[in-house]
Amino acid sequence: MTPAPSASVRVQAPGKINVSLKVGPPRPDGYHSVASIYLAVSLFEEVTATEWDGDGVRVSLSDPDGRVPLEGIPQDADNLAARAARAVAKRAGRSPRVHLHIAKRVPVAGGMGGGSADAAAALVACNELWNAGLSRRELAELAAGLGADVPFSLMGGVAAGLGVGDRLTPVAAAAPLHWVLVPAGYGLSTPKVYAETDRLRADTAVAEPVQADPDVLAAIASGNPGELAGVLANDLQPAALELAPQLEPVLAAGTRLGALAGMVSGSGPTLAFLASDETGAAALAAALRAEGHGALAVHGPAAGAVVLPEAAPESP
Ligand code: ATP
Repeated sequence: MTPAPSASVRVQAPGKINVSLKVGPPRPDGYHSVASIYLAVSLFEEVTATEWDGDGVRVSLSDPDGRVPLEGIPQDADNLAARAARAVAKRAGRSPRVHLHIAKRVPVAGGMGGGSADAAAALVACNELWNAGLSRRELAELAAGLGADVPFSLMGGVAAGLGVGDRLTPVAAAAPLHWVLVPAGYGLSTPKVYAETDRLRADTAVAEPVQADPDVLAAIASGNPGELAGVLANDLQPAALELAPQLEPVLAAGTRLGALAGMVSGSGPTLAFLASDETGAAALAAALRAEGHGALAVHGPAAGAVVLPEAAPESP
């Protein structure tokens, strides 16, 4: 067996959907408290970290499945993966010399936490590449400093999230849930969707969310998609549909073509349709594609950020 080059580490981390997202009123610090139930799905970002001699962090991007437009993703120090690498380097007391190659599969600005998955993958990859020896707990602390969705991508599975979504409690799922994702060809800015949510609810008394929806937790614990379909909820959905009304007919198409339920994922514009099982998801994805919608069958819970066995042949 040829030994793998030791100077490269490849890590995958999952995108997420929020099967329940309750959003509180705007806080004085500008953030919103949420009560969310995250589900990691089998759509993975891959980050390959390779040693290099240049200064700082170099970022490159690819779109291995030819589905994710890469415009708008920073390739400099602002990339969330680069920020993650610097955080590991700082904690490990070393210089952040690394080339991060990101193979993107999660839609950009799609409400699925793709940038957060890149950051989670980069944390694990740099820790491994540099033999930094940080525990999963230490990586989770760094993740929380990078963004609200980064700790969840690190952890994967299913979790209830409070605070800004970063105070996570793992949730057991009885069985895999099958979904069809319909990514949009454009993104929605998460801050704009929150601002629109505030505007739409300006005359409504909005309570601080204090706990994840118990009905959703019960449906996940029972593994019954029919039960879950009746309780899926996303407080950001009205604002996402206001900002992108072209999503309405796609939501209707998914339901007409057999989805148990459909929803906007997080701040959108990706749509997530729940199917009864794997066969149902494959049939629904095919039917949506036949009507001209890009559709992907996925399942969850999926594992959190994990080192893959060998370096990607495609990484430069
Ligand atoms: P979330 O649901 O976590 O708010 P999202 O899925 O809507 O996120 P992302 O794809 O994570 O959106 O990225 C949102 C913005 O973050 C992008 O438009 C881009 O400007 C910036 N960004 C920084 N790093 C990355 C990255 N590695 N991948 C994608 N976007 C990134």
